[in-house]
Amino acid sequence: MTYLGELEHGSDAEYGAGCRCEYCCQAHRVYNAELRAKRMAERVLVNGRLVHPKPKHGTTNGYFHYGCRCVDCTAARTAAQKRVAA
Ligand SMILES: [Zn+2]
Ligand SMILES: [Zn+2]
Repeated sequence: MTYLGELEHGSDAEYGAGCRCEYCCQAHRVYNAELRAKRMAERVLVNGRLVHPKPKHGTTNGYFHYGCRCVDCTAARTAAQKRVAA
């Protein structure tokens, strides 16, 4: 924790509250990286595909944020890419 005046900085909670000082940004990055790594570790191999049990499948959110590679999430990502290209 880093103290700037009265406030405590360097926490993801502060970042969530809207602070964008360098300490809170850094904390947010670290928090996200850890969360992501944790999420990725939760994936399971199903029929040769890494699938995450939690996300709503068939969404790019599942594909990108959870690293889900199920048929539905992969299709959503492909469709999104096509939209960008079009
Ligand atoms: Zn801050
Ligand atoms: Zn999926």
